[in-house]
Formats: sequence, C-alpha cells, structure tokens
Amino acid sequence: MKHDSDVIIAGGGLNGPALALALAQAGLTVTVVDAAPARARAEDAFDGRAYALAIASQKLLAAVGVWPAVAGHAQKMMEVKASDGRPGEGAAPFFLHFDSRELDQSPVGYMLEDRFLYRAFLDAMQAAPGITLIAETQVVAQAPGPGGIAVTLSDGRVLGARLLVGADGRRSGVAERAGITREGWGYGQTALVAAIDHALPHNGIAHQFFMPTGPLAILPLPGNRSSIVWSETDENARTIAALSDADFLAVLRPRFGDFLGEISLAGPRFSYPLNLTLARAYAAPRVALIGDAAHGVHPIAGQGLNLGLRDVAALAETLVEAGRRGEDIGALDVLERYQGWRRFDSTSLALGMDSVNKLFSNDNPLLRAGRDLGMGIVQALGPLRRGFMRQAAGLGGPQPRLLQGRPL
Ligand SMILES: Cc1cc2nc3c(=O)[nH]c(=O)nc-3n(C[C@H](O)[C@H](O)[C@H](O)COP(=O)(O)OP(=O)(O)OC[C@H]3O[C@@H](n4cnc5c(N)ncnc54)[C@H](O)[C@@H]3O)c2cc1C
Repeated sequence: MKHDSDVIIAGGGLNGPALALALAQAGLTVTVVDAAPARARAEDAFDGRAYALAIASQKLLAAVGVWPAVAGHAQKMMEVKASDGRPGEGAAPFFLHFDSRELDQSPVGYMLEDRFLYRAFLDAMQAAPGITLIAETQVVAQAPGPGGIAVTLSDGRVLGARLLVGADGRRSGVAERAGITREGWGYGQTALVAAIDHALPHNGIAHQFFMPTGPLAILPLPGNRSSIVWSETDENARTIAALSDADFLAVLRPRFGDFLGEISLAGPRFSYPLNLTLARAYAAPRVALIGDAAHGVHPIAGQGLNLGLRDVAALAETLVEAGRRGEDIGALDVLERYQGWRRFDSTSLALGMDSVNKLFSNDNPLLRAGRDLGMGIVQALGPLRRGFMRQAAGLGGPQPRLLQGRPL
C-alpha cells in the first residue's frame, strides 16, 4: 500500500496535535484531519474553557515545543483546597489542603485557557515540516490491511498510512469503525462553565467545594479572574443555564462564598452534559485511540486532558522505539504495548473520579460523616497526602520520557 504519511490522526482538538508534534519531532510524517475549521477556536475572545495542567503535562508541552508560546498566559496553581459544603453556609473548614511547598517541585500545576493552548498547537503544527493539516474534513471510513490502512475523507480522498490514531473525542468514529465497543454511563449532571472576575486576588489557590448536587471548582486564571466548573443535576443546570447573567450570579454567590469579594461574569457561559465513556480497547489492527476517544471522564479533578497527554507520551514513545527497532508501527503487537501501558491507569483514574463524585454528590448524613472522616485522615497523614499530590501532578509511576520533559 502507498503511504501518504506514516501516521494519520483523526482529530485536531488538543491530544491529536500534541501527538502529531511529538511524532514529527522524532522524524515521522503525520497527517492531521479535523472536522472543525482550523481557526474556529483560535480567535481572541475568551470562551470560558480552561485546563488545570499537571506538572507532567507542562513538561510534555515544553518537550514538544509549545510551552514558550503559552507560558506567559499560564497561571501557577500553588495550592488546592477541597472542602465539603452546602449552598449558603459558606466555605466549610478545609478537609484537604495540597500545598506546592510539600512537593519537591513547585507549583502544583498550571491553569491555561483553551484558546491559548489550541492556538499554540495550531501554530506549531503549521510550522512543522513533517505535519500536513487538513481542516474542515472528516474521516468517514477506514480499511486496515497487511501493508497499512486506507483512510477515506469526507471530500472523497483516500489516504494511506501505517497507522490511524483516533483522537476524535468522546464519540470516536475511528473506535466505532474498528469495532471497539464502549462502556459508561451518564452522571445525570451537567457542568456549567464560565470565567468569573473577582475583587480580591486568588493567590494561585484552586478550590473544590463538594456540594450535595455536584462539585464546584474555582480555578485561578491570570489577574483577578477564575474559571468555574460547576456541576449540577441536569434539571438544576437547565434551570440555571436559562437564567439571565444577573440571576445566574445570584444563584452562584451563596455557593461561591465571599472570600474573593464581589464577583461578576467575565464572558459567556457554557454547559457540558457529563458522562463517563471508556473504550474497551485502545488498540485494534492499525488503529490506536488516545484522549477522550479512549476515556471521557468526569471533570471533578480536572484530569481529562492530563490523562490524554499521558496517552500521547506513551504512544509516541512506543511508536518511535518500535520504528527504531525496524518494527511495523501499525502492527497489533506494537499497539498492544501502548494499550498495556495506559489502559489500567486511565480506567482506574476514571473509576476513582466516578466514585468521588458519587460519594460527594449527595446530602446523606452518614456519607457526609464518612467522607469527612476519610478526608480528615488523608489530610492528617502527610505521606498519603503527598502521594495523592504526586499522582495528581502526574509524577507517580513509570513515566514516559515526554512527561519528564525529555525528547524521544
Ligand atoms: C466542563 C469540562 C471541564 C474540563 N476541565 C478540564 C481541566 O481542568 N483539565 C483537564 O485536563 N481536562 C479538562 N476537561 C477535559 C478536556 O476538555 C478533554 O479531556 C480534552 O479536551 C479532550 O481532548 P481530545 O483532543 O481528546 O478531544 P476533543 O477536544 O473532543 O477533540 C476531538 C476532535 O476530533 C474532531 N473530530 C471528531 N470527529 C471527527 C472525524 N470523523 N474526522 C475528523 N475529525 C473529527 C473534532 O472536530 C475535535 O476537534 C474538561 C472537560 C469538560 C467537559
């Protein structure tokens, strides 16, 4: 089969571009096909979406060369405080407190707006000689064979490659066409996302308030601004989303509390219905899945993109090493090495976040007592807390080279 490039990536969101850059740096040729127009998310207006990046993710961004373009827009997260709460009661005493000074590395992580990260990826891909970007085009069919995979695009073109990577999000067509089934469930919750301006400085502190109807995360952005991810039951979220900005703030205020002073909306509001979706396999003949295509998780701990970037690092390292040994990078045994590296980690983290959400999203007095005790114990035990912090920072377990900031 003729290969137009070594790898075709379906999906130019965030994980697809990160993988393309890592592979191109190591000398592979890559075609990225994205259904959306290339500039749609690179406009200047703030659209409210921002990511909590673990230190390991920041190291990957540095290793693939995009960190210098976004560093000036990133907000250091110095502390994370988690507490149980009820609307109107104000912030409860902090049950869990992660402080960057307890890790040998500071800060705990970074907050970065989607528009800056997306634009940096786009610019870097356009400048990379080994990457071809095809926007506003969908991957519609795929046919794996012994010599490669034929990929059909919505404009009728058929491209050949050794491997097709599905980075096409939670409803991955690549996975479906490869016969990879999914498991998961809805949370009956919707996340309301917005940027909030406040009178007082946040001092780089992120807050997670566990409310009976769902968690509220307040995450620091540059200046006196924070991003909120406010999970509510679907019904409540529908009602709140339909409110005017002034009424929205009136409902938010008792949950948000007054520790940051007067609050106002800094831009438009967004709603994301929340569900868990896990692919039953990350590899099939000449196909690999990364990011949300492999695992769509609850945003409770802000780990979705971090998990995806761990896939990127592991898949890039697996493919580059296989190529150097003269192996076929689309061969199933090579792809199963990647799957073995990543699937357990993602599934356990996804189910862990699922349990935390279920444990906290209710007002049962027995559960409240139990979880407060559990959090109190973690808080009291320094080594356990530091263990959690290392995991959340992406510093636990065997690390692919890119997550250590090293080239492939
Ligand atoms: C409310 C909310 C808050 C979040 N907060 C955080 C956070 O703080 N930290 C964090 O780490 N993560 C967070 N996440 C998760 C994070 O947004 C996702 O994990 C991440 O965006 C997934 O990126 P992706 O590239 O895998 O998929 P996507 O961003 O979904 O990109 C998929 C791409 O594939 C393209 N596509 C789809 N079908 C096709 C096709 N047939 N052909 C070609 N292209 C196709 C689409 O156009 C799209 O560009 C949050 C998520 C939500 C919902």
